[in-house]
Amino acid sequence: LATLRALVELESPSGDQDSLARVADYVRGLLDDQELTTRDLPGGHLRADWSSSDHADRDHVLVVGHLDTVWPVGQLARMPFVTDETTAKGPGVFDMKGSLVALILALRIAQRAQRRPSRPVRILLVADEEVGSPDGRHAVAEDAARAHVVLGLESPLPGGDLKVGRHGSARIRLAVRGIEAHSGLDRHAGVSAIDELVGQLGAMRRFADDNDLAVNVGTIAGGTRANVIAGSAEAEIGLRYASVDEERRLFAYAEGIAPIHSAAIITMDVLSRRPAWEPAPRSPFVGHVLATADRLGAPISAGVARGAGDTNLTGSMGVPTIDGLGPRGSGAHAVSETVELSSIVERAQLLAELLTTEWPEVSGA
Ligand SMILES: [Zn+2]
Repeated sequence: LATLRALVELESPSGDQDSLARVADYVRGLLDDQELTTRDLPGGHLRADWSSSDHADRDHVLVVGHLDTVWPVGQLARMPFVTDETTAKGPGVFDMKGSLVALILALRIAQRAQRRPSRPVRILLVADEEVGSPDGRHAVAEDAARAHVVLGLESPLPGGDLKVGRHGSARIRLAVRGIEAHSGLDRHAGVSAIDELVGQLGAMRRFADDNDLAVNVGTIAGGTRANVIAGSAEAEIGLRYASVDEERRLFAYAEGIAPIHSAAIITMDVLSRRPAWEPAPRSPFVGHVLATADRLGAPISAGVARGAGDTNLTGSMGVPTIDGLGPRGSGAHAVSETVELSSIVERAQLLAELLTTEWPEVSGA
């Protein structure tokens, strides 16, 4: 509990390198105490290795988590760290500082019982997950490429079920340049960027609805005043997709956008993109994780998550992946953010068991 309080009180919004470095320092100290080999990566990410000499040549188990939260520094004054018998509340307590505590506790449980990892364990905690891991994704991809399996520390599905697939998501920006002109004197000389953008968004809406695809125009801006034909306009659009096929169709549309008015110029930028991670049917790896939870007396199930995270990347690479190993709770990214204390212990026991027992042979998810 003291560790959880310390982690929550070290506020760490994505992008705030000084604050993130303080959390990384603190977590590094905890991992060092467990005699892991730790390393700071450029970008503020933290990597730690736990291995035993007899297994050094085997593919590692990759544990993926993050140090950042969605909360700004100062949020703590508005939603301080508080606990009662069963829960703790505070910024980032559920996503994912409670998960980090479960991980540290798992290492302590294993070490106290003098249990060694069945394979080398690599822990990667990125510093920019909450903004789509623009930098952290490179480290995730590198460490996942040679991994036997990947375990994600994100929060579970409601009720505590693990995640064996995730919908993908992307943000794109559609920017239109028209020709600015006086709306009375030069009406026919102008080309309205707003009219063009509205036309494009309407067409995109029809395409999405006709194909049952998830498109959300999140922001829109443009123009200067009512008597000026708008010279520029833009919209930021969120795309979500359950499968590789949906992702392909959405991007085929977005990349194929052509101007309705021949003089308008349209540019489409991809601001962030996480691939869809489609669940593997009847994976022996998932079966092993669920059976282990069963054996520990805390049975859980597994399902597909709508939100995207770092495991979208590992899962879409075909590396056997399971996420949602963080403790139960509620209110991620909301002021009601809460974690269940008993669940932290439960997850720590599960992680300790998973990391120290033999994995089934797995290949290609
Ligand atoms: Zn998270």
